[in-house]
Amino acid sequence: MFVWRACHNLLPTRANLFKRKVINSPLCPICNLVEESVEHIIWSCPSATDVWCCGPIKLQKSTCGAKDFAMLFEEMLGRYEMPELELFAVVAKRVWMRRNNVVHGGDFEDPTQVFSIAAAGLEHFQRINAQPLGINREIQPIQTTNWQPPPVDMVKVNWDAAIAQRNSCVGIGIIARDATGQFLAACGIKTKIIEDPTVAEAYAALHAVLFAKKMGFENVMFEGDALAVVKAINADGICESSYGHFVEDVKSFRREFTRASFIHVLRGANSAAHTLAKEACTHVTNIHWWHYIPPCIGDIVRKEETTFLS
Ligand SMILES: [Zn+2]
Repeated sequence: MFVWRACHNLLPTRANLFKRKVINSPLCPICNLVEESVEHIIWSCPSATDVWCCGPIKLQKSTCGAKDFAMLFEEMLGRYEMPELELFAVVAKRVWMRRNNVVHGGDFEDPTQVFSIAAAGLEHFQRINAQPLGINREIQPIQTTNWQPPPVDMVKVNWDAAIAQRNSCVGIGIIARDATGQFLAACGIKTKIIEDPTVAEAYAALHAVLFAKKMGFENVMFEGDALAVVKAINADGICESSYGHFVEDVKSFRREFTRASFIHVLRGANSAAHTLAKEACTHVTNIHWWHYIPPCIGDIVRKEETTFLS
């Protein structure tokens, strides 16, 4: 899913920030030679080429001269099988992380190290995915207080609702991340007060589904901490409770995804969505984040991204 962001030009590269007048030079922060596009920093910058040279000969021999990252990836899709594409995706993400580290004053990681850490991470995910597939793994409540990444080919969308009696409103927090813990997008929605917390949670679940649909995600694990709502969504038959209409809407939108599962987690594993929901109550309007992790959950997301990677 990092690749998804890269293909949609959603990374805060120098060229993108320059276009939005956030900084005054679009030049690559590493080589200082050309504009830092996504394609440049991940693929054609000399610093990136050094990393790709550590990989299998197949990847090294790939395209040069693609106009942008989307075009580069499209060519790869036509040329490679899944294992090479997965390797490409994890190394690309690692190259981007290395670049961020340098920009924030950190050390410049050795190319061989970048490659070996990425490859080791990939092996870890493949091992998780080699476990018996399907329903059981996805619907079992995950009773851990730590956020866990979804399987490699899925996006995880966490949702939560928070009632703020003082402002007479409900805040809804939704955040999407991929199997590497990479932030994809988030939104904070503010709506008028709903007295019953479970009804608010069901309404938030509906927003989570609409958000995932709008983002174009096809394989999604939805995760919330309201057990009654998750049970109702996973149950057969019509939900007759006070939040039944939301549950029925969720169920009908659910069919539009290639794969969509609904999982209950403990509050601790849902803290990014929870914090975002509380924060949303203080906003004037609804907010979507694409390029940046919302500041109020920056620390949580970065911590959760590294906890299981190390
Ligand atoms: Zn460069």
